[in-house]
Amino acid sequence: MNICMIGAGYVGLVSAACFSEFGWKVTCVDKDADKIEQLRRGRVPIYEPRLEELLERNLRNGRIDFRTELGAAVGAADLVFLAVGTPMRRGDGHADLTFVFQAVEELAPHLNGFTVIATKSTVAVGTSREIERRLKAIRPDADFAVCSNPEFLREGSAIYDFTHPDRVLVGCDEPRARALMERLYKPLTLRNAPVIVVSRESAELAKYSANAFLAMKISFINEIADLCEAVGADVQEVATAIGADGRIGNKFLHPGPGYGGSCFPKDVAALIRTAREARQPLSLIEQVQTVNSERKIAMAGRIERAAGGSLAGKTVAVLGLAFKPDTDDVRDAPSLILIPMLQERGAVVRAYDPHARENAEPILAGTVWCGSALEAAEGADVTVVVTEWNEFRALDLKRLKARMRGDVLVDLRNVYLPEQARAAGFTYASIGR
Ligand code: NAD
Repeated sequence: MNICMIGAGYVGLVSAACFSEFGWKVTCVDKDADKIEQLRRGRVPIYEPRLEELLERNLRNGRIDFRTELGAAVGAADLVFLAVGTPMRRGDGHADLTFVFQAVEELAPHLNGFTVIATKSTVAVGTSREIERRLKAIRPDADFAVCSNPEFLREGSAIYDFTHPDRVLVGCDEPRARALMERLYKPLTLRNAPVIVVSRESAELAKYSANAFLAMKISFINEIADLCEAVGADVQEVATAIGADGRIGNKFLHPGPGYGGSCFPKDVAALIRTAREARQPLSLIEQVQTVNSERKIAMAGRIERAAGGSLAGKTVAVLGLAFKPDTDDVRDAPSLILIPMLQERGAVVRAYDPHARENAEPILAGTVWCGSALEAAEGADVTVVVTEWNEFRALDLKRLKARMRGDVLVDLRNVYLPEQARAAGFTYASIGR
């Protein structure tokens, strides 16, 4: 099977690498010539565990290649995936489908023989139908079908998620396309991964609903954490107790500084917009969005209080900038809101992240960049853990404290045990404990 993957970002690259590992021949196309040049030389432009070895192996055995031009790849493809970005549209919160429709216009002239066009990008309900309409208008002669195939991988464990999915979701109402999608995912179904085939609209809405539900779960435990602090309970204990209930589940019950990342904020906004326009507003999800925005802002006040009421003239070490560990992605990360707020309150911020500095640096002016957690802590009055990278869990807290001028440790991810932090000499604040 020949696959053309349009978009070599977090989703496109991982999907392309995994499909080539399944044995399919994949051409990955991206407009970004620099990215393609790096990939051709075996350099992976993003940080995602295990991706480099997978790409290297499949480059070597000729099952994957990279191009900036899509014509030949689309012409040879049985399946064309759209994995381009769908960022939040300025002004109204909708998903911006500009890149999707641009790619559709570019690929249309090259369709050749029966081809399935599948959207991996997260797109508004009705987009597959609209893609079909546009393709028909440009190429009334072409033999094609449009499917929705939303992606559920998580950055940081993307390869594992792609190859061990809870389910593969296919929105499809054309028998030949369905057969092709089932053949494509055969290596996963042989290992018992369920393929759920539904209508295209259901698939598109299911992706948004899943992300909105997960965002709601995070906001729920964040509010419970605040209540724990007010009434003397421990959110970790509450989460363990409720997570053991199979109806609730123990995932996504970790309190923190509010959800961020390239998906939840924009997908929640887009779903809210879709619902309002359908005159079926989702008041619950609208509240989740409000709670989360307020939470990100509230974190600066939390740090200020821990620092004794003022940050003026103080130095704050920030550990972690990525929106979560094991990725270099900082899109909508809590750190991007937090650091400028600390600076506005008069603090000097010294920051360290194992992989996200390159992406964060152009956005966070005035920050002092450090090469390790200990270097960031040098002379700091307060150290704040913003992203729970494993290397922060393993830090020697006594050494960390020894580098600092002050003794305040604010742990926004509950990485440490309170008694452990106190034994190292810290005045310790965490979430919900
Ligand atoms: P990204 O920004 O990392 O990558 C998108 C890529 O598409 C970029 O490299 C860009 O240059 C390229 N591109 C844009 N227009 C193009 C065109 N016409 N031709 C060729 N290349 C083009 O985005 P991402 O994080 O991979 O997300 C892609 C989609 O997948 C989004 O809709 C997102 O919501 C969805 N998604 C993302 C994740 C995630 O964890 N990142 C998970 C599930 C779903």
